[in-house]
Amino acid sequence: MNYISTRGNGGRVTAAGAIKQGLAKDGGLFMPESIPSLAPNELRELSLLSYPKRAARILSKFLTDYTYEELLADCSEAYGESRFPGGAAPITAVGGALRILELWHGPTAAFKDMALQIMPRLFVRALRKTDEKRTALILVATSGDTGKAALEGYKDVDGVRMAVFYPVDGVSRVQKLQMATQEGNNVDVFAVRGNFDDAQNGVKKIFSDPEAARLLDEKGYFFSSANSINWGRLVPQIVYYVSAYCDLLSDGDIDDGEKVDICVPTGNFGNIFAAYIAKQMGLPVGKLVCASNANNVLTDFLRTGTYDRNRLFHTTMSPSMDILISSNLERLLYLVCGSEETAKYMNELAKTGKYTVSDQVRERIAADFCGYCCDESNTAATIKEIYEGFNYLSDTHSAVAINCAEAYLADCSDTAARRIIVASTASPYKFASSVYTALTAKEAPEGTEALYALTELTSVEITPPLAGLDKRTVRFTRVIDKEEMLGVVGEITD
Ligand SMILES: *Cc1c(COP(=O)(O)O)cnc(C)c1O
Repeated sequence: MNYISTRGNGGRVTAAGAIKQGLAKDGGLFMPESIPSLAPNELRELSLLSYPKRAARILSKFLTDYTYEELLADCSEAYGESRFPGGAAPITAVGGALRILELWHGPTAAFKDMALQIMPRLFVRALRKTDEKRTALILVATSGDTGKAALEGYKDVDGVRMAVFYPVDGVSRVQKLQMATQEGNNVDVFAVRGNFDDAQNGVKKIFSDPEAARLLDEKGYFFSSANSINWGRLVPQIVYYVSAYCDLLSDGDIDDGEKVDICVPTGNFGNIFAAYIAKQMGLPVGKLVCASNANNVLTDFLRTGTYDRNRLFHTTMSPSMDILISSNLERLLYLVCGSEETAKYMNELAKTGKYTVSDQVRERIAADFCGYCCDESNTAATIKEIYEGFNYLSDTHSAVAINCAEAYLADCSDTAARRIIVASTASPYKFASSVYTALTAKEAPEGTEALYALTELTSVEITPPLAGLDKRTVRFTRVIDKEEMLGVVGEITD
């Protein structure tokens, strides 16, 4: 199976080519030429298998230039007991309809691990399959979760060097400590004076600097990225929706062919788009509920057909969803209306910050998706209600989704009997102070003390990768100006 650009002029590459290249040459995103399907009995068959085997089966439908044996070896390492103790994507019933799919049992306690544990393995194979002799220099700008998950995934991977840049005052204390104490001989972490946009623009500038690319090439390196528009990050996310359905089947919670709804706390539209692909493959899914926080640009888009990023940016307690441009929405537009119309909308977005899709496109999207949003006080109230009502401790992002799922269920009484899978994207301990405050209406203690306060309050165990964080050795303390970013890239490749 080959991959083409959402904007129609990016050529045709293999899966390995798409994973190595990241972005298509015309600025579009890579998509498979067709969507493979699940065979009639396949869900029953898959439900008998382990998560790594389910993953290898699904991935092999999309990554046809990788052998099943290669994929199984990679999936077994990525999703095995040592990295995901107790299972990669467990599902828990909360009340009559909610089924919480916990995606944060990996090494960094956020759902980004589901993709970033497997992607480095796919990436290294892609370098071999495309006969690449140089070392990949992966630059990451992060507002928190992606940086740590990428560091953990790529540490000590042969043929890869990595530098992560985060805004010095733009990440939580836990996130900062997670990155500063990172192990591995091929990684570096820098705090940048400025906000996330400064770090991101700095990385983009280096990527598009031909002189930098030339100098790097002389030293035997080439630039690459690990961000969420890479197909190698998206395809592993399809797996856990199929897997969750299989688990509900084998638990006897649903019958063969029974539809479930899916609700996803959304930022860049990657996670929910993966659920849409699972539906396109034939997974029995009803509606996809797109949950947003106060930055509700997607809610407005799904309800009106107008995408407009010209609005106030809110800093919320669910920072990984504080996004005004959801890059992966481009992939949905491409599937719904083709590359020509998609390129037109993306041009308008770049020029004016907004676009309006045709009525026909809006209706086709509305057949699969609906949008809900949840403000700060309702997020906090949901954390408290779900804890007091069901003894379930939720992080801030997952609470947005739980709130939106409940609002959706209240709006459609005809689907009352239906199960709704809610993607839970981070451990409550990753955002311990906000969760503590939501439960107690009190200010949380400083820094990592909030973790201890929360476990004392709830008796829920601190998620293992976050326990003892304050006792680990700090390796990275350097703070730089954004003008120094290119310089440090030179330094680390000398
Ligand atoms: C990245 C992230 C999200 C948003 O996921 P998208 O794929 O960007 O929509 C939601 N919650 C958490 C905790 C995240 O880290």
